[in-house]
Amino acid sequence: MWLLLSVCVFCLLGCSEGQDRATLWRGNDHSGRCQYTFTVPSPSETSCSPTVSGGPEMEGLKARLSLLEVLVARLTGGEAGSQSQAGLQEALTQAMGERILLQGEKEHLERDVEGLQRRMEEMRRETERLQSRPCYPQHPLLPPSIPLQDSGLRPAGGAGVLSHLVSRPGRQWDTGSLRDPAWQYGGNPVLQELKAEVTEIPAPSPEGPEDSTGCGELISIGEPVSHRKADSIAGKYGVWMQDPEAVAPYGGKMVWRIDTVGSEVRQLFGYEDMDQLSKGFPSKVLLLPEPVESTGATLYRGSLYYQRRRSRTLLRYDLVSESIASRRDLPHAGFHGQFPYSWGGYTDVDLGVDEQGLWAVYSTNKAKGAIVVSQLDPHSLAVKRSWETSIRKTSVANAFVICGRLYTVASYTAPNTTINFMFDTATGQGKEVALPFRNKYRYNSMVDYNHAQRKLFAWDNFHIVSYDVRLGRQ
Ligand code: CA
Repeated sequence: MWLLLSVCVFCLLGCSEGQDRATLWRGNDHSGRCQYTFTVPSPSETSCSPTVSGGPEMEGLKARLSLLEVLVARLTGGEAGSQSQAGLQEALTQAMGERILLQGEKEHLERDVEGLQRRMEEMRRETERLQSRPCYPQHPLLPPSIPLQDSGLRPAGGAGVLSHLVSRPGRQWDTGSLRDPAWQYGGNPVLQELKAEVTEIPAPSPEGPEDSTGCGELISIGEPVSHRKADSIAGKYGVWMQDPEAVAPYGGKMVWRIDTVGSEVRQLFGYEDMDQLSKGFPSKVLLLPEPVESTGATLYRGSLYYQRRRSRTLLRYDLVSESIASRRDLPHAGFHGQFPYSWGGYTDVDLGVDEQGLWAVYSTNKAKGAIVVSQLDPHSLAVKRSWETSIRKTSVANAFVICGRLYTVASYTAPNTTINFMFDTATGQGKEVALPFRNKYRYNSMVDYNHAQRKLFAWDNFHIVSYDVRLGRQ
């Protein structure tokens, strides 16, 4: 009885909404015992059993669950959105970086186009001038770009030029033309120029030993060896170096590299050795205090020498103190596209080092575009001595100095080109040469000599390459 009553009370408590309508009936059962009946009417529910589904509380619970689900969904969606936004931001940053690099590349190409247009205009004017003059016999060996009217480009030509020409092996032309009366025009600057260009070229003996200092004339250049391919557009061209006379704390094995794509080039990467360079793991990154112009930098005795951007100012950056140690203008030097190599790229001033010290290769208005080579004081950057050559700077792809002799590369794109000219500062005379040289990757933006390694270092279309060289005695 009490148990039945308890059940009914429980139902009463559990079904509070139906409490007001509950009825209690009492009577006797068929055995005469007292029987209590408790009734809760409900239009929608058949029982107040707690196992039955539905009811306002359940509905409330369901509503709260739905609300929570919505909140969870919003939160989850929000996180995904944040992740998506971060991804977009990263992609945007990358795209901006690529855009800057591509912009630099575009500027470079535009400069190339301007340079080519300028040179075409020069050649057109030169052609008109030549057509308006009497016709002198042309020498078949002369490069077409030599400025014939440029009296400032006359190195000392030998009096015995004609006999040398006649005796040169492997060359054929009508020697009668050399006796043309026009060639006896002693005071004519045109003749002077031609004489300078055809100075006798005694072929060096490939079997001859080098001299006691290890120096000699360049005899041959080996095949290029690639050490590293740059992995972004920033490495399409640049300059890489090893200090041939290194000082502490950096040893002679340390390799330095500057990617010169872009307008604000200031990063100098250092690698412990060639192996680390090949793996792409720099051990040192220096931020230069002033931006670099083009690919003409060099290293010597613990300092980086480079041309400051948009100027003829040379800077000596001390690797130990990590600061500018010297600065000086290179007198009258053309810069920022006035006298670049044929590659362009503002290669107006090219610095290099050889057994005899520090050199600058450039041109001036006075030299009218011909290459000027100057030996510099490595401490003060003052010019010690200068020579004017007879080869136009814009007509060659690059230059380097070995044992006081300047050599020029004919083309930066032709896979099989030549070293086409040599100027000896010891004699002040230049001569045409034809040593095979390979541009394996067809876009050679930098060539320099390293006398400690006895190699040429070059940067050819993303590839950091080197060439063995062979020197000999004439
Ligand atoms: Ca060079």
